[in-house]
Order: sequence, then C-alpha cells, then structure tokens
Amino acid sequence: MSSSFDDLVGQDRVSEVLRGAVLASRSLQESQEMTHAWIFTGPPGSGRSTAALAFAQALICPEGGCGTCSDCSSAKSYGHPDVEIVQTEGLSIKVEEVRELLTRVAWAPSMGGWRVVVMEDADRLTESAANALLKAIEEPGTRTVWLLCAPTLHDIIPTIRSRCRHLQLQTPSPDDIARVLISRYQISSSMADFAARVSQGHIGRAKHLATNEIARSNRDSIMKLPLQLGSLASAFQAAQTLVDLATTEANTASQDRDTREIEKLQEAYGKGATGRGMATGAAKAIKELEKEQKTRATRLIRDSIDSALIEIATFYQDVLMTQSGHADSIVNVDMQNAIESYAKKSPSHSCVQKISAIMEARFKLERNAAPLVTCEALMCQLAKP
Ligand SMILES: [Zn+2]
Repeated sequence: MSSSFDDLVGQDRVSEVLRGAVLASRSLQESQEMTHAWIFTGPPGSGRSTAALAFAQALICPEGGCGTCSDCSSAKSYGHPDVEIVQTEGLSIKVEEVRELLTRVAWAPSMGGWRVVVMEDADRLTESAANALLKAIEEPGTRTVWLLCAPTLHDIIPTIRSRCRHLQLQTPSPDDIARVLISRYQISSSMADFAARVSQGHIGRAKHLATNEIARSNRDSIMKLPLQLGSLASAFQAAQTLVDLATTEANTASQDRDTREIEKLQEAYGKGATGRGMATGAAKAIKELEKEQKTRATRLIRDSIDSALIEIATFYQDVLMTQSGHADSIVNVDMQNAIESYAKKSPSHSCVQKISAIMEARFKLERNAAPLVTCEALMCQLAKP
C-alpha cells in the first residue's frame, strides 16, 4: 500500500515516529493534547521539508496519509486549504509575514481535522518574527500543527525550541539514494550509483544529476577547474567560469518558475490584466513579484556557487584520501586517474590549506561578499603549488 511517507529516503526512525504521531492524532480525545509544534532538522538535501510535508498529508488525509487521495495530492501540490506551506524567497522571514500568516491560519480547519503549517526555512525567522510565532505556538487548544524546518536545532531560538518536538533527519546513504533513483525514476544502476555518490547524500542534487545531461556536463567543467590552475591568468579564468556556470544553472532553475508565477498572478487579476487596460493593482502586484523574484535569483546564484565550491572541495578531499591510502573511498570515482596523479605531485598539507581556503570563501559569500572577487581570490590560492 502506498503512503505519503514513501517520499522519505533513508529515514526509517523519523517515519516511525511520524506514523505513530498520526495514529495518535486520529484517536485523540478532545481533552488530550497532540504535539502542536515540531522541528525537523537535517543537512541540506536530507529531506526536511519532504518529511514535514508527508506528515502534513498524513494529518489531513482521511486514511492517515495514503499518498494518493485528493487531500494528499492537493497538499503535496501546495493546494490544500488546510495545509499552509511557507517558502522563503528572501533572506529572512519578517515579522509582518508571520503576522499575515497568523491571520490566514486563525480560522478552524475547513475539513474539521487539523490545520498544518509547514515552514521550510524557520532558521530565517528574524527575532521579532520568531517571537510573534512563539505566541501562536503557545496558544492552547488550537487545531493548528506547526512543522518548522531548519538545518540544526541551534538555528531556532531557544524559546520556540523548548516548545517543539524535535526530529533529526539522517544524511541518506549513497545506497539508499541509488535505490530510490532506480525504483522511482527508472535510472540505470550505474548512473544511479554515480549520482548518489557524488551528490553526497543530497537527494535532489542526485536526481538532478542523474536526469539532466547539462547538469552533468556543468559538474564536469567545475570539477576540472582544480586541474586547470597553472597560472594567475588561468585562476582568474577559472573564477569567471565558476561564476558563469553557477549563474546559468541558477537562472535555468528559476526562469520557468518566474514565468509561471507571473502568469498565475495575471490570471488572478483577470484576463484583462495582460492587455492595455491592466489595472494599476495588477501592475503593482506584478512589480512586487518581480522584485521578489530578483531577490530569489540572487540567492539561488549564491547557493549555486556554494554547491560548486563544496564540489571542488571534494576533489581535494579525494586527493587527501588517496595520499593516505584510501583511494577506494573517494567521492569522485569518475576522476580517479586525475586524482591519483594530483596526489603524487602535491604535498598533503597544501590540500588541507586549499580545503580551508574554500571553506573561508564560502563563509565570506554567506556574508554577502561579492561572488566574482571572492572566487578570484580563492582560485589564486588554489593555484599555488
Ligand atoms: Zn490520502
């Protein structure tokens, strides 16, 4: 039998706890208290929001999360009236946004069961936003269940933390990921193994690589950069290549979504909204949306550069592994020869320095340093023997 929890990969313990909670929620007397607030933590790509969404489906589904009924599918496609998904486009969730959200979820659930709020980036709540949310979580006797997702527990303020039940997701193993790629997306086993290994536990990334030839060729170009750093000029060229590839990858991901969102908004304002007589309201709303989309695009490019840097770091880690006699445990199995010859000519302390230079650059980018300049400085360091 299918279930909304089928989407979770390598999370047996978390699924078990959630299934238990769903059963309890269905047999609860009015006087009994269901856990109203949960925190899902785990590394990027481990499936925090997937787990939260599966739980949301199970709470509102008449069958406890069959994964196929109309409640389950509308929740999954973000269209269920009792399931509110909060996705952050900007860098933070502001107090006004939380107040708006609280007004929206203030009514009783339309179907009489639970109203579920999934907040995908609860780590981005500003302090005042978190305090506004805290009041709602503390409110007794409501039918609203809060599912907050964050990388770690420390990303959530202690007052909220102490009122939530915590679930830690595991990084899925390459075998778990490969199995899903094969069974769910009919990927060949050699491709599935490769994608699962190089994506290091990030399911979305593994699927993207396994199904998208351009993504694989972009990855190839990025992974070759450490081998092309012979001179200062080549270091600057490598920085440019990295930023360009990351930008293209991020833009391809957002273009379709941007267009869809604009169309949806135009539809909401009526057919005339696309023509000459576009109402000022619609024009203003579209302008607002475009502004949000721009912020999101900037964030996506930064995220994309960050993933590229993590991938480049795996090259140097593989060199270190090879130098310490663990060549069979390298991540980039497709580059084994290049890694071996690099390992022979490079002193191991230099690889350690290069990995810390990469981490330093990521840290700077996270604090809004200019991407190209940061990558240029980094590549110059990586170009050193
Ligand atoms: Zn269902």
